[in-house]
Amino acid sequence: MKSIFDKVKLHNGVEMPVLGLGVYKVEEGTQIEETIHSALDYGYRLIDTASFYQNEDGVGRAIRNSSIPREELFITTKVWNSEQGYDNTLRAFDESMERLGLEYLDLYLVHWPVKGMYLQTWRALEKLYKEGRVKAIGVSNFKIHHLQDLLSHCVERPVINQVELHPLLAQTELRNFCRQNEIKVEAWSPLSRGRFLDEPVLGSISDRHGKTPAQVILRWHLQHEIIPIPKSVTTSRLKENAEVFDFKLSQQEMAEIDGLNKDQRFGADPDHIDF
Ligand code: NDP
Repeated sequence: MKSIFDKVKLHNGVEMPVLGLGVYKVEEGTQIEETIHSALDYGYRLIDTASFYQNEDGVGRAIRNSSIPREELFITTKVWNSEQGYDNTLRAFDESMERLGLEYLDLYLVHWPVKGMYLQTWRALEKLYKEGRVKAIGVSNFKIHHLQDLLSHCVERPVINQVELHPLLAQTELRNFCRQNEIKVEAWSPLSRGRFLDEPVLGSISDRHGKTPAQVILRWHLQHEIIPIPKSVTTSRLKENAEVFDFKLSQQEMAEIDGLNKDQRFGADPDHIDF
């Protein structure tokens, strides 16, 4: 991995950037537009939004006002929990596309595995995929048992599983399962929202490379072939998070960061969602 323009090939042949920008909690209006403009200037091409984030309109405006050709961008959005089910998902997709102002979407994800619903939701994603309205379909917050259930019922297999993942929650078993099934893993909260950037192990590794702890964590994701989507509304951090292609962690350093894992979730457990 040499540049932010590098791509990873999904099992259906579609190529996706190796790192992206997450926009949860980026405010609709000038904040989302300015954030995306800065990000595009620093080379980000993957934008991760969701109907739940209520900023799809702004994402769409920022894309239209940029000079980057549509085919160079990779836009992800997600169907929210209350929008699941076959007909509801088809409607939610149309609404998201209307807000985004796009003719096609790059990646559509099932946001959470809502019990008793996600298989019907998936059928709707398969239809949208077959119609060419979305280039790739995937899931988010699926545990191994959710994936096993989906894989035994689906026609199209998910290309991606986007889950909470950072050094304190390394998700090794899930990552292995995904690798065996050609499902790429994308990390949400890849920096754990900055909660453990003062961890001494990260400190000494970052000093050695002249990088920040956040950059070391992002590099750890990349070297594990995990796609991180860090969020920031701060220009200097957008730049910092993109500058992770000019150094390499050794096997020893990777192992030290692997050793920080505590299976510690900060977000919701997908088996116990009540939203
Ligand atoms: P992140 O781990 O990306 O952390 C974001 C926070 O860290 C912000 O407060 C940001 O501050 C701060 N930050 C960013 N860069 C740095 C840095 N270099 N140094 C110090 N602090 C930094 O967490 P998110 O939860 O936002 O996850 C990223 C994306 O993942 C989301 O935006 C969303 O797209 C997706 N996501 C998906 C979920 C799902 O269920 N599928 C759930 C949650 C997130 P500031 O902005 O003030 O600069």
